[in-house]
Amino acid sequence: MSQDFNVYDVVLKQLDDAADELDLDPQIKLLLKEPVRTLKVSIPVRMDDGSINIFNGIRCQHNDALGPTKGGIRFHPKVDENEVKALAAWMTYKCSLVGIPYGGAKGGVECNPKKLSIGELERLSRGFIQAISPIIGPNKDIPAPDVYTNSQVMSWFMDEFSKIKGVNSPGLVTGKPLVLGGSFGRDSATARGLMYTVREAAKALSIDLKGARVVVQGYGNAGSFSAEFLHELGCKIIAANDSCGGVYNPKGMDPFKLRSHKTDHSTICDYSDSERISNEDLLTLECDILVPAALENQITPEIAKKVNCKLIAEAANGPTTPDADRILTDNGIIVIPDILANAGGVTVSYFEWVQNMYNYYWTKEEVDSKLERIMVEAFNKVYKTHLERNVTMRVAAYIVAIQRLNEAMKARGWVE
Ligand code: NAD
Repeated sequence: MSQDFNVYDVVLKQLDDAADELDLDPQIKLLLKEPVRTLKVSIPVRMDDGSINIFNGIRCQHNDALGPTKGGIRFHPKVDENEVKALAAWMTYKCSLVGIPYGGAKGGVECNPKKLSIGELERLSRGFIQAISPIIGPNKDIPAPDVYTNSQVMSWFMDEFSKIKGVNSPGLVTGKPLVLGGSFGRDSATARGLMYTVREAAKALSIDLKGARVVVQGYGNAGSFSAEFLHELGCKIIAANDSCGGVYNPKGMDPFKLRSHKTDHSTICDYSDSERISNEDLLTLECDILVPAALENQITPEIAKKVNCKLIAEAANGPTTPDADRILTDNGIIVIPDILANAGGVTVSYFEWVQNMYNYYWTKEEVDSKLERIMVEAFNKVYKTHLERNVTMRVAAYIVAIQRLNEAMKARGWVE
């Protein structure tokens, strides 16, 4: 995920745009510009052949004015510091926007989990938690899954931390399996939240969702569940891809079959009943709703000029570059920005943490209805700000988020 440009500059540009519009106190802006803490660690891991390998890991805590920091940990061959800083900052804005009492953090380990045995993956996961244990905890900083980490990795994280502290600590991480204090609905929460924002946007923009053509880039957790929920609203999934390639069928594909194909074959690129499609052709396909759900920096200016949809719902973090954003705006394409569209994940993570702290568990219906209320409220605040101030949905989302952070930092006395 190393970039041709510094992805943290994207975050600073987004902060600038909203700060200008808000006439934000320069001291508040200064505090939001740099993360409060970044810890880099080296993790020695005994490999199956008996040799020792050193892996690089990082945990970045961006801002904790609203509460303990929160954010996922990704295992990926190209984790870099600027990317982790950017993802941590987006978490700060996202948590603030949806009104949950968390700051933002993110972490990563530079590795290729597909090439590690299960034993190596477990030793790496435990080693990473040992290395960052001084700065994390249920009331300090709470990790979660991200790209190529899952509920098994979270279980090892929680177990290792509990052993280090000598206290069972389910509230250390979210995204755990149900049996270890996970929450109903966490697996699909990002996508469910995205679906609520798309539903509200469709109402506001008079887009008929019955038969609306949807394209999904990145058929992983966020992408596959988004396809399923949008399908349940009546949409037609006409194209989807993953890192191996893409598939297209103008008549629509069954998203549930696509997901089980991915489970069985580790990819969807050889799914039957479809034509092959390149990543660029997929992103620029004529459709109603485009859901980028892979990685950052996917909708570049070159792609944006050719994007041919009414609405983009950003499941991924940072999929659109600032220059591309301007082109989309000029072309009348509405973007539900990442910090709003994918905030369902951290919202249900918050619910999981609350349940862990109380040691009292909710039903799936309770989780879903609480999530719906938060997502609809956040969408409405952003949409109202977008209309009242005549700014893009992204700037509007940052304005709502920064107003709450501003209030918290002032109340704490960090700024007069
Ligand atoms: P995941 O690992 O489950 O899925 C990622 C998918 O993207 C995989 O299928 C992979 O093959 C595919 N992919 C990778 N590179 C690609 C490329 N160049 N073109 C097309 N597909 C590609 O990860 P995820 O958890 O679904 O996360 C995806 C994005 O959503 C990330 O940006 C993540 O930060 C964001 N996100 C996820 C959650 C969550 O709860 N899972 C929450 C908020 C944001």
